[in-house]
Amino acid sequence: QAKQQGGNRYEFYHADMKLNTENILQLEMDLRRALEREELELYYQPQVDALSLKPVGAEALIRWNHATQGLISPASFIPLAEATGLIEALGDYALNQAIKQTAEWHKQGHQITIGINLSSKQFNQHTLIGQIQHAIEKNGLASQYIDLEITETLAMNDAEHNIAILNGLKALGVKLSIDDFGTGYSSLSYLHRFPVDHLKIDRAFVQNLDLETGQSLARTILAMAQSLQLTVIAEGIENTTQESFLQKHGCQILQGYKYGKPMQKEAFSDWLNHYNRQIDL
Ligand code: C2E
Ligand code: MG
Ligand code: MG
Ligand code: MG
Repeated sequence: QAKQQGGNRYEFYHADMKLNTENILQLEMDLRRALEREELELYYQPQVDALSLKPVGAEALIRWNHATQGLISPASFIPLAEATGLIEALGDYALNQAIKQTAEWHKQGHQITIGINLSSKQFNQHTLIGQIQHAIEKNGLASQYIDLEITETLAMNDAEHNIAILNGLKALGVKLSIDDFGTGYSSLSYLHRFPVDHLKIDRAFVQNLDLETGQSLARTILAMAQSLQLTVIAEGIENTTQESFLQKHGCQILQGYKYGKPMQKEAFSDWLNHYNRQIDL
């Protein structure tokens, strides 16, 4: 059936696609090959301090550069990687690459924090703590510069159980973020008990900041985060209106196309160096 769609692989791997045995097997084959051929690559998106607009970090975002189909979005292939079990190899690859690259930037004098997305399977893997510890030791990156992101939906689903996992991760000294905040249903009492450092406001809220309802929702999230002593990272800032609003209401870290799109490591290095030259002037 996928072939009848004119070979459009992007459509083929669309997240809403109904999973059946045939397309899972096809994806599994393609992804396995992609991992071997190193067609998977991490891109890095800048995160800046909301007031100084100085670089403070990056989020590592995986890309599948398919030999013939071009770039395929993670929103399309991550859910299917989860379904096939390949997410474990993929997640391990992302974790190691991101930590290795960040250690490199630290050696060049850029003390940035790296945001790494964890899938549900990865989060529940009992080997996760060991993997992170190994990557930290091997690359010599201080754990406080690693920020593990789990989605609000994942965090709140079986929250009691997740608190134990989060505490285990926290004991490594890493930072923890609740990603896509506002898109799921959070229980305030659990949010209060999670040993997390950051809330990442979902891009959907930032997009709505030109509307009055959008503004009051964002203000509510920021006020709540403040009372829970959580740092807020806003995603998807594209214009000055959104930036000004978030600065004014106490959001601490900004991420969005306004500062930079996700980019290859070389381009991200250039961005860091360019920025630091500007500051030195
Ligand atoms: P996310 O973790 O919420 O990542 C933020 C997404 O917003 C990224 O999409 C980023 O490119 C996009 N974005 C950031 N700023 C802007 C903006 O100003 N405008 C617009 N239009 N978009 C913006 P991306 O890279 O397509 O990733 C989608 C999702 O795939 C991520 O959402 C994350 O859930 C997942 N993902 C990406 N890499 C990994 C990975 O290595 N492991 C796992 N488990 N999931 C990943
Ligand atoms: Mg994320
Ligand atoms: Mg997000
Ligand atoms: Mg998102």
